[in-house]
Amino acid sequence: GNDVLPDLLRRSAEGYADRTALTFLGAVTSYGELWEDALRFAAALQKIGVQPGERVSVMLPNCPQFVVAFYGALLAGATVVNTSPLYVPGELEHQLRDSGSETLILLDTFYPRYTQVAARVPVQRVIVTGIQDALPFPKNVLYPLKARREGSWVGVKAGGSVYSFKALLKGQAPTPHPVTVHPDGVALLQYTGGTTGVPKGAMLTHANLVANAGQARAWMTDLQPGTEVCLAAIPFFHVYGMTVAMNLSVLIAANIVLVPNARDIKMVLSQIAESGATLFPGVPTLYNAINNHPDTPAHDLTSIRACISGSAPLLLETARQFRQITGGANLVEGYGLTEASPITHTNPIAGEQREGSIGLPVPGMDALVMNELGQPLACGEVGELWVSGPNIMRGYWGRPDETAGVLREYAGQTWLLTGDMAVMEEGGYFRIVDRKKDLIIAGGYNIYPREVEEVLMTHPAVLEAAAVGVPDAYRGESVHAVVALKPGASVTEAEIVAHCRNGLSPYKVPRSVEFRPELPKTAVGKVLRRQLAEEARAAGE
Ligand code: ATP
Repeated sequence: GNDVLPDLLRRSAEGYADRTALTFLGAVTSYGELWEDALRFAAALQKIGVQPGERVSVMLPNCPQFVVAFYGALLAGATVVNTSPLYVPGELEHQLRDSGSETLILLDTFYPRYTQVAARVPVQRVIVTGIQDALPFPKNVLYPLKARREGSWVGVKAGGSVYSFKALLKGQAPTPHPVTVHPDGVALLQYTGGTTGVPKGAMLTHANLVANAGQARAWMTDLQPGTEVCLAAIPFFHVYGMTVAMNLSVLIAANIVLVPNARDIKMVLSQIAESGATLFPGVPTLYNAINNHPDTPAHDLTSIRACISGSAPLLLETARQFRQITGGANLVEGYGLTEASPITHTNPIAGEQREGSIGLPVPGMDALVMNELGQPLACGEVGELWVSGPNIMRGYWGRPDETAGVLREYAGQTWLLTGDMAVMEEGGYFRIVDRKKDLIIAGGYNIYPREVEEVLMTHPAVLEAAAVGVPDAYRGESVHAVVALKPGASVTEAEIVAHCRNGLSPYKVPRSVEFRPELPKTAVGKVLRRQLAEEARAAGE
């Protein structure tokens, strides 16, 4: 229990030096080389003045430089701040300021966004890299970015000194000054997705992240160190991809096949087929996209053995189809949240997998369903899910009040209040009912949007659906539905409402229906219910 994250990489480099660690568009890096690169990068950061405890923001898609920057920054004793490449300048500014990042590592194509905020953020050093820097054969680049001359980037600029990632590593010895990194030190600031409120940085320690990689490993009983191939399409800048696709892979010395853009299904398919991927962690929207892609039948996906699906409910139909096209891959649902590094529950890979259930708490995890008064509820009763274990964050960076709102002492342990309503069923399996904050209260009745959405989704014309609460003079709130239709389908508001009457009690039936070409979603494909609710409210005023 005294490991820090770089220990995972060091051990794999010692035990499996020649084994491929990273595969990126045909370029390969061994575990021995990756460890050396991380050491070199740590030494380079020290040389340009990065001190232990400083925040280093990493704004990169999945590519070799991400892994080198992450482990290198940790070896230098810094805290990594995961930064979404999708951020618009305003979001980037908020995160750089809130985290107090002195250093920013980013892709050359993102640099113009940084220059828009450079004058208002604490960044003193910027390290720029290009996708092509990771490739030995620039002609073969699948992402034809305009190659920029390094000279145009490097130098002292208004927003701090700008360095080239490649140049920093070149000729650098893999000998950083030794830094003592404590397991309880903050390894990562992971900003929560922002589907609710202002983004805040969850402080995840080395111990938290090491624990969760181990908990994820325990989920798969037959993992063979040094033999697995993990298709890493889910982004490392999100804690789910970081733990399950990167840190777990490093722990078991798997070959990490990097895909920079999970929406590029053609590339996901070709990389699975070429690499013979055995593990493929994902999210429901990704499995669904593969199930429905015209190129899927032309690719051999039978090497895939195990997949964990997290971040949102997994529809049974999605799992069933995916098993079929992979010739029986085990696709199981799990659950977690940023504040828990993130995994807290999974369906067991060898054992009973229950439909519509998030499964059992992972090893070392305690879970309770609690009522409003903070008392445990019995099996079958709906309440808030509380979790406790070695993977629970230390708190939110610089926000003690918000921390106090979600971390609570009970029965001699610290518990994280997940904000999700859940129910425990026989055998200790859990089911998520819905998010507490999305609850709609109409005429004194509680309505969980997910229940309404499930009925909406059974209408043959409906592709996507969301249910949100809007103000109602008599009931306080009423249900408003937002739907996107399948291509070519047509249906009226009255037909949708009639369909809902057949499947829901009267108070749950939407009072209004709005049609949209598609629903707004987060970077990991979650529907932004809060945004829809705000827009519906604004439209009603
Ligand atoms: P925010 O922190 O603002 O809520 P977010 O959705 O991006 O944004 P995450 O920590 O990424 O936050 O997601 C955690 C949430 O995702 C959980 O609290 C839960 O509501 C939902 N979730 C994750 N897995 C599942 C699942 N298998 N079934 C249902 N919901 C899930």
